[in-house]
Amino acid sequence: MILPINIYSDDILRLKAKPLKGVDSEIEELIASMFESMHNASGIGLAAPQVGRSVRLLVLDLSYITEYEHEKPMVVINPYIISVKGSCDIEEGCLSVPGVLGYIERPSVITLKYRDEHFEERTREFSGMLARALQHEIDHLDGTLFVDRMEKRDRKKIKKELDAIASGTVNTEYPVVAPKLAKVSKQA
Ligand SMILES: [Zn+2]
Repeated sequence: MILPINIYSDDILRLKAKPLKGVDSEIEELIASMFESMHNASGIGLAAPQVGRSVRLLVLDLSYITEYEHEKPMVVINPYIISVKGSCDIEEGCLSVPGVLGYIERPSVITLKYRDEHFEERTREFSGMLARALQHEIDHLDGTLFVDRMEKRDRKKIKKELDAIASGTVNTEYPVVAPKLAKVSKQA
């Protein structure tokens, strides 16, 4: 099922998401819907809070990028970054901040402990786009958006675009939850 994506400045994107205790049929369904919603929006990563569920779960699929075509789609649950190496400046975008791009400096290599779709514990080192996408999605689980990490002068340049998204003036090719509507429905 394609789920609408919660966008800036929805409160749910600012919460610290809760760890999962296991993978039951409801979570399996959520994972399938997250992959479908992400592919529908041509995204490479999606975190559960972006579809209105404040749990520590994210999905990733970089397989359409030539360099990563053998990389299977990934389910990452309760991730924890054990260590980081190096740093690099890469341009990022986000399905929850449509139309906005910005350069962010982050570690270039991460070692991650997480649980997979079977809730089995894994530890693996990631580099390149995988490391980048994982760090971006893990930020979502802690209520952080990539625009928060942009340099001040770059943030000034996108202020108008952010205000427009927050006021509901947004044009996407995928369904979204307008931030104001989301607040109303939470009160109801
Ligand atoms: Zn994002």
